[in-house]
Amino acid sequence: MAQSELTIDLGAICTNWRALAQMSAGDTAAVVKANAYGLGAKRVSQALAKAGARTFFVAMAEEGATVRNALGPGPTIGVFGGHMEGDAALIRDANLVPMINSIDQMLRHVEALPGHPFGIQLDSGMNRLGMEAGEWSALRDIALSQKPVLVMSHLACADEPGHGMNAFQLQTFRQMTDGINAPRSLGATGGTLLGAEYHFDMTRPGIGLYGGLPYIEAVPVVTLSIPVIQVRDVNPGESVGYGNRWVARVPGKIATISAGYADGILRAMGPKAYVWAGESRCKIVGRISMDLIGVDVSALKDPPDRVELLGQHQSIDSVADAGGTIGYEILTSLGPRYNRTYITA
Ligand SMILES: *Cc1c(COP(=O)(O)O)cnc(C)c1O
Repeated sequence: MAQSELTIDLGAICTNWRALAQMSAGDTAAVVKANAYGLGAKRVSQALAKAGARTFFVAMAEEGATVRNALGPGPTIGVFGGHMEGDAALIRDANLVPMINSIDQMLRHVEALPGHPFGIQLDSGMNRLGMEAGEWSALRDIALSQKPVLVMSHLACADEPGHGMNAFQLQTFRQMTDGINAPRSLGATGGTLLGAEYHFDMTRPGIGLYGGLPYIEAVPVVTLSIPVIQVRDVNPGESVGYGNRWVARVPGKIATISAGYADGILRAMGPKAYVWAGESRCKIVGRISMDLIGVDVSALKDPPDRVELLGQHQSIDSVADAGGTIGYEILTSLGPRYNRTYITA
């Protein structure tokens, strides 16, 4: 079988959630947007609900409906994108809680679904989503009289603890919300690690659950094992792959493995990336193709049957470094061709 094996450890996700919940001053939600960062919203949400998570967040209402199907009634499912045109039926039927981002969204929400729960998202400086101070002061009293279930904002630089933006956003959020009687939330994974000042009534970790930085103590969650299709000898001067980008200088052995950029193994990381054959690190050579990658296995006594791209030896963040990106993008790029296996919690 040429299909690669992607193993997702639900127990590790729950371990990470519990550890982050232990650090949090208040409640700890679980962010499962983008199909739980590519790992499967249904299985991940069900495992986290079993571990004790009572609040989940997604980016858009359609994702919320999927999570509701997986969880059944009970848990709160918040929608960061708020209440968009055309969302009313989904929000009502799946009992979602939109995080209202503007006066327009507020009007749309109370008109379409009077009395339906909502939260408020404020912009404390990131300039991405949420009401700015002016809008908020115009709407504040009316909005608060409708009892929002949460008032939240999001930090732009929480993965850099020393960044001045953190204290600035904390102060801005406090100025906008001190004294209100609704629960508040500011921190995601990074904000959880910044300390209790940033926690308020709820933290909203995502990447930390899935084993990514900035939660350096996270337990690894994914293993990606790729079969070797063919091994060949190369002589000095012979090239490997498209564009002849790698040329053998000494006699060697090249393994061709069965995965490529169509599976989310970024073509850009080719020149810097490695895979592991047991305890040996082997360099990726030549351009990454759509379905195939060359690996230099010259140093191994016996050519391997499979190699590992992600796992105990190599984290999503080391792979991300090779491609000039972040662990989040590695996870959400993991393709649909893998045989996905879940280790149950
Ligand atoms: C994605 C997201 C989160 C989770 O962020 P992580 O860095 O993955 O922990 C929390 N809140 C909002 C508003 C988000 O968009």
